[in-house]
Amino acid sequence: MVAVKIDEDIIGKEYLEMAFDRCIKCSTCKYSYKDFEPICPSGEKFLFESYWPSGRIRIIRGLINGDLEWNDDLKDAIFACPTCGGCMDSCQAPHADYIVDMIEALREMAVNHIGPGPNQRKLIERTLEKFNPYDEPNSNNEELKKKWDLPDKAEWVYYIGCTSNYRQQVIRDATIKFLKDARIDFTLVDEHCCTSPMIRTGQVSIAKEFMNYNITQIKNAGASKVVTSCAGCYRTMQKDFEKFGAEMDLEVYHTVELIKQLLDEKKIKFKGEYKKTVTYHDPCHLGRHMKIYELPREVYNKIPGLKLVEMKRNRNHAWCCGAGGGVKIGYPDWAVEISGERINETKETGAKILSSICPFCRTNLSDANDKYGGDFEVLDLLEIIDEVGIEKSEN
Ligand code: SF4
Ligand code: SF4
Repeated sequence: MVAVKIDEDIIGKEYLEMAFDRCIKCSTCKYSYKDFEPICPSGEKFLFESYWPSGRIRIIRGLINGDLEWNDDLKDAIFACPTCGGCMDSCQAPHADYIVDMIEALREMAVNHIGPGPNQRKLIERTLEKFNPYDEPNSNNEELKKKWDLPDKAEWVYYIGCTSNYRQQVIRDATIKFLKDARIDFTLVDEHCCTSPMIRTGQVSIAKEFMNYNITQIKNAGASKVVTSCAGCYRTMQKDFEKFGAEMDLEVYHTVELIKQLLDEKKIKFKGEYKKTVTYHDPCHLGRHMKIYELPREVYNKIPGLKLVEMKRNRNHAWCCGAGGGVKIGYPDWAVEISGERINETKETGAKILSSICPFCRTNLSDANDKYGGDFEVLDLLEIIDEVGIEKSEN
């Protein structure tokens, strides 16, 4: 028996225990399963075993059985990973679905012993002070409510998310316009960070407090359903709220799910056409983390005139945009370099539009498009729908 030393206060400690008897170091996690295409941005970049998922699992084992001592040299191996989940999809062992949970639990423990990853402390400092990780004055969304004539109480809350509210406002505005045109009974609340940046970087001490705050705000608006246009917020509300013990008894939708439902029920129809070729980038937090692959494609394919083409690596084998897991703030140049591969793959498709359904993907893909001369538009699905227009069906 090993002398296991797992910090008592680690929320994900059950995942750390999985590191002991499950990983056989077969390396299947290094490439997409059977397609054999690179899937792990971290391993591909640094090319040392400790930067591949199997190496990270060995680091966990070493640290908790005492073979390895905590020191700053471990930081990059622990934090230089966008938690894309490519390894979860490729690994065929019983712990596969939990590899990202293991990495996040390792980060929790690292924060206690050697501190957070590069620049990542800023995320929590800013969020503590301003309730968002972007260092922007908190918007209580009252101005937006007035501008769009939204009620105080409603069936739905549109949870905007910090990236759409403070950096990618085109997504926020197109989403509000869509919900108004579809005549959804919705409102906005004084939301705080969803906690995704905290959880992905292992800085979880205030996460549950933020979760409960947001749940209370949504319930105080009389809502039983919440819709968000951010893949990160969606994953966090769907999976992490429960993991952290927040009492989440609300229905959570990503905008694309609501659009699909309204189309299927023939409650909305598109007004115009979009005669352009589009390729879709699967956000990791919606794809591999939540297994939503076909539903967005069905919505794109229903837009009149739109031609959807696939990148070489798609669905569960999609290459990450590189922004997640604290990489955008911790390793900004590398984050854009990761997205650069998506720019090259988009070029191969002949598409004029690179589209996704996550504001964080939009940010990083746009940065890479600018840096590597992609020469196409990077657009969220909601921006495309805004251009086409929708109307409520009469029936
Ligand atoms: S994590 Fe899974 S795929 Fe990777 S080496 Fe271990 S058992 Fe093999
Ligand atoms: S989450 Fe992605 S980057 Fe991190 S180890 Fe797994 S495949 Fe590699």
